[in-house]
Amino acid sequence: MIPFNKPPITGQELEYIKDVIESGHLCGDGKYTKFCHEWLEENTGTKKALLTTSCTHALEMAALLLDIQPGDEVIMPSYTFVSTANAFVLRGAKIVFVDIRPDTMNIDEKLVEAAVTEKTKVIVPVHYAGVGCEMDTIMEIAQRHNLFVVEDAAQGLMAKYKGKMLGTIGHLGTYSFHETKNFVSGEGGALLINDERFIERAEIIREKGTNRSQFFRGQVDKYTWQDIGSSYLPSELNAAYLYAQLLQIKQLHQNRLNKWNTYNNGLKSIRNIELPQIPEECKHNGHIFYIKVKDLNERTSLIKFLKENEIQSTFHYVPLHSSPAGLKYGNLINDEHTTKESNRLVRLPLYNDLNKIQEIINRLEKYCRGE
Ligand SMILES: *Cc1c(COP(=O)(O)O)cnc(C)c1O
Repeated sequence: MIPFNKPPITGQELEYIKDVIESGHLCGDGKYTKFCHEWLEENTGTKKALLTTSCTHALEMAALLLDIQPGDEVIMPSYTFVSTANAFVLRGAKIVFVDIRPDTMNIDEKLVEAAVTEKTKVIVPVHYAGVGCEMDTIMEIAQRHNLFVVEDAAQGLMAKYKGKMLGTIGHLGTYSFHETKNFVSGEGGALLINDERFIERAEIIREKGTNRSQFFRGQVDKYTWQDIGSSYLPSELNAAYLYAQLLQIKQLHQNRLNKWNTYNNGLKSIRNIELPQIPEECKHNGHIFYIKVKDLNERTSLIKFLKENEIQSTFHYVPLHSSPAGLKYGNLINDEHTTKESNRLVRLPLYNDLNKIQEIINRLEKYCRGE
């Protein structure tokens, strides 16, 4: 069976993890966390990066930082992972789902402004598959209506929109290092703070509501409970794994793009398969290689065919607006594309040492010839 995903390994992970164990400093915010923060700040251009235990938690931190209150409205696509919505629902927000663009599966920026009401606080663009949303338009709308923008860039590290790293354009941005993403630490994430006003409070929220970070820097002589907060910092063991990945990121990134391009070139000439589209302003990171087929029935039959041929493929997302919790906490404005497009999308295996892409392409050709 060709698996759908395998987490990347660079070879340095064990060495750094061993270093952590021998140092006797296992909890968060040690040497490796600091290395990762510096790497992220230097390489993305964000004002402040903070590692978190997951992207889910980075999103929760964003909702706390923006003081989301019951009744506030948050605009996002319905075609996304549950955490994008959960983080704000936990603060009592109502989610307003906006339709997606069929070309990128990203929120349709042209529909965002019509969804803004007096209660709107935040817009959350999700950069699906590491392809940037139309951020200029979204930032303009946010500015006009005095809203915050939190980029869910869980899938977006190393990808760019008009030369800017995804995650660094909105007031806040979030990354995921979950083992299914391009660069991993097992479970992990980061909050990018692009608006300096949020830096001090973000450190406090992440450290259980205390000013422990200031204490460690010698800025205060004791640390105390300052604000609401939780434990959002990862162990050094996770940071060490991540640092090994960040040091090899150019190779990992190029390798992934090469594999994505192999699929894209190999499938170009097959009729009945639609390929992903990348807008000119975007440099993607090859996070997902997906194809689209005619409809839900066709997709079910293709996934079954691939499985019979020992190829594991998957689909996602069940749109949030039609999920049990989505019906309760959200509201979809219109659904011209979300359900239709999500129903016909298939994700193909993609990972660092995948070397059977030609075989997968051959199978797909066979399937489309009806053999
Ligand atoms: C993976 C993912 C998340 C959640 O990331 P975790 O690190 O697993 O919490 C959130 N949003 C999107 C769009 C994702 O793809």
